[in-house]
Amino acid sequence: MSTRIVIDHRAGGALRHPEKAHRPDNPIQRKPAWIRVKAPTHPVYRETRDLMRENKLVTVCEEAACPNIGECWSQRHATMMIMGDTCTRACSFCNVRTGQPNPLDADEPNRVADAVAQLGLRHVVITSVDRDDLKDGGAAHFAAVIRAIRAAAPDTTIEVLTPDFLRKPGALEVVAAARPDVFNHNLETVPRLYPTIRPGARYFQSLRLLDEVKRADPSIFTKSGLMVGLGEARTEIMQVMDDLRVADVDFLTLGQYLQPTVKHAAVAEFVTPDAFADYAALARAKGFLLVSATPLTRSSYHADADFAALRAAREAKLATAAA
Ligand code: SF4
Repeated sequence: MSTRIVIDHRAGGALRHPEKAHRPDNPIQRKPAWIRVKAPTHPVYRETRDLMRENKLVTVCEEAACPNIGECWSQRHATMMIMGDTCTRACSFCNVRTGQPNPLDADEPNRVADAVAQLGLRHVVITSVDRDDLKDGGAAHFAAVIRAIRAAAPDTTIEVLTPDFLRKPGALEVVAAARPDVFNHNLETVPRLYPTIRPGARYFQSLRLLDEVKRADPSIFTKSGLMVGLGEARTEIMQVMDDLRVADVDFLTLGQYLQPTVKHAAVAEFVTPDAFADYAALARAKGFLLVSATPLTRSSYHADADFAALRAAREAKLATAAA
């Protein structure tokens, strides 16, 4: 991963994160051995990349410089990012371009659905940039994408990873009414770090969104994720787990934060695989239906297999309750 992804060549050499340009550099630490990933060389990786280009689709895999892209795309698993490639927020952990986005593309739902059908996916994850400029935060567009995928690929299960819609009334209900199989909204970090890491968001608002989705339709699986290694304490992570359980969230993901450029938040710590295993055991004990906690875990990493595990865990729980 580049240490200076601050110039955006696709945007004619403009700064990719203009709001971060004045910040002092945070030197990027060398990653430990357990974080290393192989360069993507698999032929299916190239097929997936070409399909995304042909359909003019944006992926969070590329925009966020995800370390798992080689593995995921070699299995045709790409997470499409809708509503453009430019985000109206400026989180200090995120590599997605920031600025003034273009108007929504009304044809995007069909192109996403066509790509899902062509990839032959059993499970797809759709995410987006934050669109605080839109009246509904993009909720109706999310719902249109879900409906288009249902029509083009009826056997594909759908997971959405949404922004918080800037607390816009009715937005989450519009998305929930389109009945995705999984509704994911990441808390990203512990509440104490929100002002520096996720300054445009409010911890309890994000928590409430997850709670309200579950109340709106209990059949939808809810999911949330955190990055660790930003300076949080173990007790703070445990508190977030408790908060998520109170909101009846089913699935928790925990992964290591990696610093995209010198202008982003510094890594405070590389959390060891043993510490991740400890977090996973804690989360299971707290009652999540499913937990994924490894250094390379990302919201959409192994989402296909995880969805099958999630469904099986719910069925096992219901069977136990009925016995
Ligand atoms: S983990 Fe998610 S964002 Fe990363 S490459 Fe895989 S699908 Fe894309």
